Amino acid sequence: MKAINSVRGMPDLLPDQTIPWQEIEEEIRMVTDQYCYREIRLPILERTELFKRSIGESTDIVEKEMYTFSDNKGESISMRPEATASCVRAGIQHGLINYGKHRWWYLGPMFRYERPQKGRFRQFYQFGVEAFGWEEPAIDAEIILLAERLWDALGIENHVYLEVNTLGAAESRTRYTKELVAYFQDHHAELDADSQRRLHTNPLRILDSKNSKMQALIDSAPVITDYLTAESQENFSELCDILTALNIAYRVNPRLVRGLDYYSTTVFEWTADHLGAQNAICAGGRYDGLVESLGGKQVPAAGFACGMERLVEMVQQIEVDPNFYTVTVFVACMDKAGIRKAVEISERARDHGLEVMTNFAGGNIRRQLRQAHKSKSILVIIIGEREIESGTVTVKPFVTQRPQRNVKEDQLMETIWEELEYFNLAL
Ligand code: ATP
Ligand code: MG
Repeated sequence: MKAINSVRGMPDLLPDQTIPWQEIEEEIRMVTDQYCYREIRLPILERTELFKRSIGESTDIVEKEMYTFSDNKGESISMRPEATASCVRAGIQHGLINYGKHRWWYLGPMFRYERPQKGRFRQFYQFGVEAFGWEEPAIDAEIILLAERLWDALGIENHVYLEVNTLGAAESRTRYTKELVAYFQDHHAELDADSQRRLHTNPLRILDSKNSKMQALIDSAPVITDYLTAESQENFSELCDILTALNIAYRVNPRLVRGLDYYSTTVFEWTADHLGAQNAICAGGRYDGLVESLGGKQVPAAGFACGMERLVEMVQQIEVDPNFYTVTVFVACMDKAGIRKAVEISERARDHGLEVMTNFAGGNIRRQLRQAHKSKSILVIIIGEREIESGTVTVKPFVTQRPQRNVKEDQLMETIWEELEYFNLAL
């Protein structure tokens, strides 16, 4: 029968790919703990209205990238393309974010109908943080510092670049948008079709155009910096001052905008030097108006979302650890009697907290050693006929190249610890 393949753009993560994911997830748990952000887990399906009202009807995401369908009762449901809207929805629904202050984080799959390519998928994972209830730019700085600490922990800090900008609060933004529309109107013929459409729906997004023919026009456009109110200017300087004081490298890019309508004032983005065209790994900013527009109170908020596939790809390219072993002890045996003993011995080693792979295949020892090598094992224990007869086991240090030893069964654990110590010294 014909095999069935996965849906385009929805990749499998095979068992040998999940190890780096788990390690990064572990680091994420550690840094979020350090900053007292608490995990929230949210549904994948939401009412379509939620994304229309938050991300915005005329954004690419809502216009053409959502997986939307009617459920059995005819209600319009969408698979979440991002999680900030869901965080806010949940926070309002459960009576949390209208009061007090909250620091949350999430990790999970998002869905966007985009053209699949390197670093761009239709199902992809995002890790994100959200902070509700702080007006101070110090919270923007805190979430930037949290991300920087994660880059440090993952060893990629010298390969990512932070850009910051402010879109201004309501007043600055209205004044600026007016000037921007006037400028692009004057150059209407030079705009591509997408930008002509955006001129009326979402003019700031024109600045984010990936069309190289538009670059010169965009470079000469008015910049937000000239239209900021004193308050917007002050808030933005405060953020920049904190980052500078803490030695965080960043660049102010007055043309940085986000593809989601709910962002206001501060926005920021990290790009990576290793990823080619899809090089944005993490992006965020403030969204002070979102809670209110989704039916809550006026609650200031800020957050970011980080693309996990791009992060994993990057960590792997930069930090290929030659000393990466996944199996501590590999147990090889030859025949049926050997299998029984292999199971017993493996259990004993696990009682001591070791990671043990028991090989039930039996037979050809060479083939088993090859398998131990492929599994990245540190030690191999061999249980052959001779061992069973004499009540011994053979311990073969696989990595250190020290000689193999045949020892009495009751000396096994002692020998394993000794060889692991030699291994640790050799690293
Ligand atoms: P891009 O410009 O690459 O499309 P974006 O501005 O649409 O990114 P956001 O909506 O801000 O991205 O999402 C934050 C992060 O999520 C991005 O920086 C990226 O790392 C990741 N991301 C977004 N879309 C995808 C996708 N289709 N596949 C993989 N990762 C993605
Ligand atoms: Mg996008």
